[in-house]
Amino acid sequence: MPDSLPTNEIYLENAKKAERHLERFKGSVLGHFINGKHTPGTSGKVLDNISPIDGRVINQIAAGTAEDIDAAAQAARNAFPEWRDMPATERRRILHKIADLIVSRADEISLLECLDTGQALRFMSKAAIRGAENYRFFADKASEAANGLSMPAAQHMNYSVRSPIGPVGVITPWNTPFMLSTWKIAPALAAGCTVVHKPAEWSPLTAMLLAEITAEAGVPDGVINLVNGLGEDAGKALTEHPDIKAASFVGESATGSAIMKQGADTLKRVHFELGGKNPVIVFEDADLERALDAVVFMIYSLNGERCTSSSRLLVQESIHEEFIKRVAERVRNIQVGHPLDPTTEVGPLIHQRHFDKVKSYFSLATEDGAEITVGGHALDSDGYFIEPTLFTQADNKMRIAQEEIFGPVLTAMTFKDESEALAIANDIGYGLTGYVWTRDAGRGLRMAHGLEAGMIWVNSENNRHLPAPFGGMKASGIGRDGGDYSFDFYMETKNICIAFDTHTVPALGKRP
Ligand code: NAD
Repeated sequence: MPDSLPTNEIYLENAKKAERHLERFKGSVLGHFINGKHTPGTSGKVLDNISPIDGRVINQIAAGTAEDIDAAAQAARNAFPEWRDMPATERRRILHKIADLIVSRADEISLLECLDTGQALRFMSKAAIRGAENYRFFADKASEAANGLSMPAAQHMNYSVRSPIGPVGVITPWNTPFMLSTWKIAPALAAGCTVVHKPAEWSPLTAMLLAEITAEAGVPDGVINLVNGLGEDAGKALTEHPDIKAASFVGESATGSAIMKQGADTLKRVHFELGGKNPVIVFEDADLERALDAVVFMIYSLNGERCTSSSRLLVQESIHEEFIKRVAERVRNIQVGHPLDPTTEVGPLIHQRHFDKVKSYFSLATEDGAEITVGGHALDSDGYFIEPTLFTQADNKMRIAQEEIFGPVLTAMTFKDESEALAIANDIGYGLTGYVWTRDAGRGLRMAHGLEAGMIWVNSENNRHLPAPFGGMKASGIGRDGGDYSFDFYMETKNICIAFDTHTVPALGKRP
């Protein structure tokens, strides 16, 4: 902790509750969940799950192997026909039940997520509820999943139908792991797929709660399976397994590339949600107060460990000095602290390795000629706390402007006019999101259409609407999540063509 443990009453109450929920994990090895049962796995090897808050071991997890993945994939394959053939109305009922159970355990999920990831409760308290909303949304869409198109031609009737692709692998990262898992698993289940989930090894706790809740809600054994372990072992085996028909992955771009290679032999269908280095562009005519709120929120919330964070700030030259001064003031005031303290805005980073990576950009920034206007240090603590940091005087060639730092660290640059803003914003390998602040509607539209990114917000921070497509261009991803887009990934489309018996069938070998 930065100083010492907080003493306010809400923190103390949260800490007491969190401790109670943590009891079942402490001192034990968290295994896998395969075919409706908890299992210790085959390797006997374990991994430490480290607390971001104080570096201590929270618990251990089983290091899943190819054998464990095989058992989970077989369970998912065996469960598939029953789940696929279950009436959609029944799947809908079960998915709503999952949502109910998530809501009834929302406190437990949020508190454990804070301890496991270091994310502040002010953001995580909504994580479980948002997860439940994902289930409700896809529950209500389950009966539309098989829908296709009607495409009449002159002499044939064409129509398409969709059917679930089969057992799928879901691989998730450690930032907001519960919410992200629901985002992937809910549409898969609604579509009629069965699932093998490999959660991130640095934040395994709430994934097990989700698997248990799903089973308790009444899915048949084998519909949901969870294998803990390392990406390069359990994750790799999952993406190589012949019974797993598709891999839905959220994580780093380099890992996405590895998964594509691993899945090549089995022609795996892949869906990738990868990294980002997203621009937020502030024009001189913007509502600067709202822009300021959004700029600060979108990089310093969730510890900056957020794929959609606006980590590159582009400010028009004419307002640059004043706007950066105001950003700096806000950043200096950001409260770093224990995730369960209600006053905390930024908690500790997830893990020593990530902490070292984020810190390495402090010296890189100055070596490359940028200035550290705020922050730039780690806090004296056993946990992985760093000061919210603002780099200024940067140009777009620097590593701090090109690489995903994935921490509470903002790189600020200037631009002269619209075309320069667009050129800087697009001069990057990533393309997940872009944010534009202007009162000129035409300029907002021109920028939105010109930016090379999968999601653009004009005069808004990231605001998720579940039917809308979510995903990235360039190195930020392949495919889209949300609404019907999710079903497109988890389902096969079949076209059926029936003749009106009016056309001439070509006849060979026929003698008059
Ligand atoms: P990561 O790629 O290191 O790990 C993600 C998951 O992949 C983990 O479960 C890991 O065990 C597994 N994995 C690692 N190597 C693997 C392999 N060879 N085969 C199969 N699985 C493997 O990512 P991370 O550090 O956990 O997460 C942070 C990254 O996730 C950031 O780049 C962030 O931008 C990205 N992210 C993207 C989105 C999005 O929607 N685009 C959302 C959240 C996070």
